[in-house]
Amino acid sequence: MFFASDNAAPCPPAIMDALMRANAGFAMSYGADAATTALRDQIRTLFDAPEAEVQLVTTGTAANALALALYTPPYGSILCHRHAHIEEDECGAPEFFTAGAKLHLIDGAHGKITPDALTTALAGAGGAVHSVQPSALSLTNVTEAGTVYTVAEITELASIAKARGLGVHLDGARFANALAATNASPADMTWRAGVDVLSLGGTKNGLLAAEAVVLFDPSKAWELALRRKRAGHLTSKMRYVSAQMAAWLDGGLWLDMATHANAMAARLATGLAMIEGATLAHPVQANIAFARLPASAHARAKAAGAVYYDMGDGLCRLVCSWCTTADDVDALLAAFNG
Ligand SMILES: *Cc1c(COP(=O)(O)O)cnc(C)c1O
Repeated sequence: MFFASDNAAPCPPAIMDALMRANAGFAMSYGADAATTALRDQIRTLFDAPEAEVQLVTTGTAANALALALYTPPYGSILCHRHAHIEEDECGAPEFFTAGAKLHLIDGAHGKITPDALTTALAGAGGAVHSVQPSALSLTNVTEAGTVYTVAEITELASIAKARGLGVHLDGARFANALAATNASPADMTWRAGVDVLSLGGTKNGLLAAEAVVLFDPSKAWELALRRKRAGHLTSKMRYVSAQMAAWLDGGLWLDMATHANAMAARLATGLAMIEGATLAHPVQANIAFARLPASAHARAKAAGAVYYDMGDGLCRLVCSWCTTADDVDALLAAFNG
């Protein structure tokens, strides 16, 4: 009954097997190996974006901060949701990597920015020499509240941002879960919707440590390469990072795992709705549920060995992963029910 986070899950055997296969003999370092070249092509093909630049890092924070730095000067601002990971969980990395840009926080129900809120934020931003200049919009899909932006919603937000000349970043720590939830294609959810750069997350969905910056404007590729190295994120034994991500994409494993995690969260949400005194704080649209439960229900679940984050006031976050089982979900529900 481990619902603390999807990055607390182990790696599936296919990923560990791929690492063992990658461990055969010598290969050139710093990404000059055949596995990395093949993976970069695999991602370009998957995104229907033959010109895209793909660079690997090992944390989502690095992917986000490097991606945002490409679009944001030190005197710029990054518009994002008030509860965005870049605001709450990255220790100022975007500010650091941009050499001081400001995050411009936008409120919105259920972790989402609305077109109206974005338009209002932009109306009051920039202009005079006295203020930071709006430079990038950062969206998160799956959002931090466990909700999902549709392709149409991303398209609308991106077009508002583009009309003001902003770059558009998508934090896809749970991109696979968002695709699984919407049945959208990778291209439709990114560049065709106006996204300039994607943080493609693997670690929350079964990888050991692999994230990709997928940059749809290849003219910034060299800058990204230099920024990654300067930031200390050019992994010398890159083949092991590449091997993970290639095995994850092969045969659609990444989407199968995300689909399963989403289905487990849906099962959880259905069960929670039937518990006396329980309410869902946000619609459950992917692999995360936020629920408010009576203290007695929490006490029973904790006593039964359930692990999850308490957010205070009876609210908890329950995250399903590729290896959450229906039995895990049912056992948690039974404990909550008493
Ligand atoms: C987990 C997560 C990240 C990446 O976090 P790291 O711990 O740096 O890998 C980025 N964005 C969101 C929304 C996340 O949930």
